[in-house]
Amino acid sequence: MTVEPGVTQAQLYRFLQDRGSNLWMDATGASPHSSLVGNAVERGFGHTPYGDHFAHTCGLEIVLPSGEVVETGFSRFPGSKAAPVYRWGVGPALDGLFSQSGFGVVTRMTIWLMPAPEYFQAYYFRCSDAAALGPLIDALRPLRLNGTIRSASHIANDYKVISALEQYPWRETEGETPLRGGLLEAKRRQLKIGAWNGSGALYGTKAQVKEARRLLRRALAGKAARLQFLDDRMLRLASRFAKPYQMISGWNLERTLAVLKPVYGLMKGIPTDHPLASTYWRKRTPPPSRMDPDRDGCGLFWCSPVVPSDGRDAMLVTRLATDLTLDHGFEPAISLTMITDRALACIISLAFDRDVPGEDERAAACYHDLLDKLAQNGYHSYRLSVDAMRAMNGSSAYTSLLERLKASVDPRNILAPGRYSAPVGEPRSEPEQARALTRGVGL
Ligand SMILES: Cc1cc2nc3c(=O)[nH]c(=O)nc-3n(C[C@H](O)[C@H](O)[C@H](O)COP(=O)(O)OP(=O)(O)OC[C@H]3O[C@@H](n4cnc5c(N)ncnc54)[C@H](O)[C@@H]3O)c2cc1C
Repeated sequence: MTVEPGVTQAQLYRFLQDRGSNLWMDATGASPHSSLVGNAVERGFGHTPYGDHFAHTCGLEIVLPSGEVVETGFSRFPGSKAAPVYRWGVGPALDGLFSQSGFGVVTRMTIWLMPAPEYFQAYYFRCSDAAALGPLIDALRPLRLNGTIRSASHIANDYKVISALEQYPWRETEGETPLRGGLLEAKRRQLKIGAWNGSGALYGTKAQVKEARRLLRRALAGKAARLQFLDDRMLRLASRFAKPYQMISGWNLERTLAVLKPVYGLMKGIPTDHPLASTYWRKRTPPPSRMDPDRDGCGLFWCSPVVPSDGRDAMLVTRLATDLTLDHGFEPAISLTMITDRALACIISLAFDRDVPGEDERAAACYHDLLDKLAQNGYHSYRLSVDAMRAMNGSSAYTSLLERLKASVDPRNILAPGRYSAPVGEPRSEPEQARALTRGVGL
């Protein structure tokens, strides 16, 4: 599918539905109205086997600050048949230069779509012991490496799940923050969730999924509780019988389904605005039917360290993040996504109420401490907010090359100054441009 900027997740989904397409897109948990190109150039991710977005794009068209138009891969050859299906083309591959950079505006991009599998089955599991995370990751890694698990499986902590289900329990905590200890455990019991909660899906023929299910069961035996599988038929039945089931068992299955369904849909590439509600976590009024976190003063900071797919790293990064965030008075909503065969993208979010005086500053202090602490321990975020560009500092040769490229492509520094480079600078004067070009010095 070849798209231009401004095409949203919801539009692509509707386009495929309207045509009765047998192709699935990959969706993020961000708003259905967010941009496909914007997310791909930020190297964002979703949930299906095509979850690593930039890895599933090719044939970019870019307008440079000079006004020149560059096409990547084989796209630069008029009439090239392989342009939309083969990324590298011939010669240096330039695509990466236009992700997370201010080198040009991407005006066209081919995004690969996934043929709908013959059979799809989601799985869910949980574990009550926080220390179970390490063994879980070590059990799942071989399955990701050998292709049993092909998608971006997801493990979320209790805070992440609770904030997806409801708002901060102001009454139970009598206004105390953060939520922790006995009250947190009580919430887990009440909502029937674990310290860690996994979800993912199996895609393939019926026989492939059956075998993958067997291998998953074997790998998680004794490491995760309540490994459950769900397909379209089971979901339909559960929805139909939720009410009578609640009358018999007392378990509010409808409520569980309300949470399960959006996650289930995301694993099939169906966009949802459900996760947006979690930005209202610390608000004292419920999310409105037309959510607008910015309008409603919902604060959200998140960082995204990438860690090796190894139990020790998963344990360390989540422990560091949990302790630090709680010490700052916020709840760490954490997820780990098996984004590639070998790496986990860990997302740590802290939601806060911007209408509380001083909360912006407190949350910002927590966010910056978190970035620093994680970096000191070798865990760096794969994308950064505009005011976190100092985290780009690393090898000076890398920075210097980046600056020379920027000076050459955008000598007047007009495009996203300072974004993914040195700290934000002013547009350059003519002598500064010349100096930067000849000596490779900074913004
Ligand atoms: C509740 C919630 C859940 C989220 N879940 C996810 C998730 O699951 N996965 C995920 O990846 N993110 C997630 N996000 C983060 C974010 O909202 C998304 O990444 C979203 O896709 C950003 O879309 P946008 O339209 O706001 O992009 P923008 O903010 O417009 O763009 C993102 C970046 O790309 C650059 N850019 C945009 N268009 C172009 C272009 N044409 N050429 C060059 N550069 C360009 C912009 O300068 C900007 O730096 C989530 C956010 C929230 C609040």
